Amino acid sequence: MNRRQFVRTTVAGLSASALASRVTLRPGQPARTRLLMLGTAGGPRPWRTRSAPAQAIVVNNTVYVVDCGDGVVRQLALADVPLRDVRHIFVTHHHSDHNADYGTLILLAWASGLRTRVDTWGPPPLARMTDLFFEMNAADIDGRTTDEGRPPLRPLVHAHEVRTGGLVMEDENVRVTAAVVHHPPMVPAFAYRFDGADRSIVISGDTTPVDSVVRLARDADVLVHEALYDSAAVDRLIASVPNASDLRRSILSHHTTAEEAGRVAAEAGVKTLVLSHLIPAEDPATTEEMWAAAARMHFGGRVVIAKDLMEL
Ligand SMILES: [Zn+2]
Ligand SMILES: [Zn+2]
Repeated sequence: MNRRQFVRTTVAGLSASALASRVTLRPGQPARTRLLMLGTAGGPRPWRTRSAPAQAIVVNNTVYVVDCGDGVVRQLALADVPLRDVRHIFVTHHHSDHNADYGTLILLAWASGLRTRVDTWGPPPLARMTDLFFEMNAADIDGRTTDEGRPPLRPLVHAHEVRTGGLVMEDENVRVTAAVVHHPPMVPAFAYRFDGADRSIVISGDTTPVDSVVRLARDADVLVHEALYDSAAVDRLIASVPNASDLRRSILSHHTTAEEAGRVAAEAGVKTLVLSHLIPAEDPATTEEMWAAAARMHFGGRVVIAKDLMEL
């Protein structure tokens, strides 16, 4: 089986356009702030056609990963993003659909050739989580360091706990700012804005519709906003989750409907609204046209319903 056949098999369910937009980084490629949708399903359970929440922003062969849901490393590989180029990792909040593969991303990037510094950013207890991940995986890391001649990994990784909104970091490619969002019981939870040389991208993380995202996303080129369809779709979703008695209330009170996401996008004045972190992630009764129509009730700009491995 050649590589393209493998990709087509693995990402069954993606549209032809999503496959065509697979990422290939080439040496000398012109600078551009690229957004790759790695995983677009909302919630912690795995799905057949959508991976867990994760995005990559790639500028000048520097990779900034935003959220690390289950399978993020696999999705980066499918998108042809060199794992050794991962430089910064941002976590919006500590629900497992956003952080389950945080440590795995670091570990497998190192296993794939990473030998340079990685800075990670997110709410507490990110520093302790980082320490505990290294402790849990000491046998593998120590073994590969001594047996395979790899550079020690721990000194490369620097975790920074983000506690308030404002400037997070800035380098030669991007300026990253954060806003506190509303996603109980996760306090704090953040949205992040990336201002590159050519465009600005905002990732809402998980939140109810809030003014802080409107302000953060003011005049941005792209707003990736989480989206829930409606309560009937949530009822269909939770019918197969028998061990969470309060899940319906939790989902409906901690997220943003597609219609509300359109209102946030309109108030912020963004050019493109990308609906992602879709709840439900896989529901034949909720079509792409329905998602888009809900967002367009209040927003007249470009609306995109995210798919895994889509580049925007
Ligand atoms: Zn989530
Ligand atoms: Zn969440």
